[in-house]
Amino acid sequence: MFDVENIMRENILRLKPYSSARDEFKGDASVFLDANENSYGSPLPESYNRYPDPLQKELKEKISSIKGVPHQNIFLGNGSDEAIDVLFRIFCEPKTDNVIICPPTYGMYEVSANINDVEVRKVNLLPSFDLDVERILESCGEHSKLLFICSPNNPTANSFHAEDMELLIQKFPGIVVIDEAYINYSKQKSAIRFLTEYENLVVLQTFSKAWGLAAIRLGMAFAPQIITEYMNKVKPPYNINLATQQFAMKALDNIDWVNRHILETIEERKKLEQQLITTSLIEKMYPSDANFILVKVKDAQGIYNYLVSLGIIVRDRSRIILCEDCLRITIGTESENRALLTALNKFEL
Ligand SMILES: *Cc1c(COP(=O)(O)O)cnc(C)c1O
Repeated sequence: MFDVENIMRENILRLKPYSSARDEFKGDASVFLDANENSYGSPLPESYNRYPDPLQKELKEKISSIKGVPHQNIFLGNGSDEAIDVLFRIFCEPKTDNVIICPPTYGMYEVSANINDVEVRKVNLLPSFDLDVERILESCGEHSKLLFICSPNNPTANSFHAEDMELLIQKFPGIVVIDEAYINYSKQKSAIRFLTEYENLVVLQTFSKAWGLAAIRLGMAFAPQIITEYMNKVKPPYNINLATQQFAMKALDNIDWVNRHILETIEERKKLEQQLITTSLIEKMYPSDANFILVKVKDAQGIYNYLVSLGIIVRDRSRIILCEDCLRITIGTESENRALLTALNKFEL
């Protein structure tokens, strides 16, 4: 049987976590003189003078009811990026362990590995942008602790086959991290459904994309309870500030706004795809399951610079493996997309 504690770092297994004032006293009281907070309040109207709930219980209850995942299986991070870093610190011994990533993919996995001095093994996607399951399994060994799968994948915009991902969860000796930052735009079901079956899975989602809240920095990890418990021990005690917790609770009451704009984004994506095809600049358009599209063009850098000169910024991905001459374009509002198309149509002339 898979035992997550068998693949953890020794120092984390032994870790005695920081115990905050809020951890040590959790009852009802009226005089709080235990945390060296400002007893006189703050220049702001709400109780920002008090440290926030380190485990964000109220917020997790709300997320739990929307996602259908028990609160014990939820970890909240200062963006998904913090969850990624915490996973490195729990599982990867610097200079000894390794992780597997599947380029072209999200850049933070490698940056986080480098910060933690952990070897990165790269198994490129197939030319179809599918996972090379066989080579992933060939390239891992007993020190392979994390496998990052981003689905839908940034920057290729496709989702991976559920069977491929499930096979990897079954065969990979460490933790499979499925990053679902774009899942709300996808036709695919979330990998959260695999959590009841597998002990070595972490699913990441975020408030930064479909929820429209990149600025409040809130990422979610769904994982077996033993993993969320260790994540909570390793994170900074008050990693989610009170303003973020309050804004997220408000947003969760406004799920209709979110769902409406997911549909609108997908509609605009279809329109943009159809219209881009008619410009002679596009060599190839990759199918998208996300809120952006990847296109191969004749002169990526030239088009990029031309758009910049008009105040329109897209992402030049042309120097990235398998993305030669590719631009990544976020779906904008109707008028933003129109501005982009008008500009591109003029470049043709
Ligand atoms: C945008 C994005 C995120 C979001 O990261 P946050 O730290 O939550 O803002 C995570 N993963 C991928 C692949 C992304 O593209």
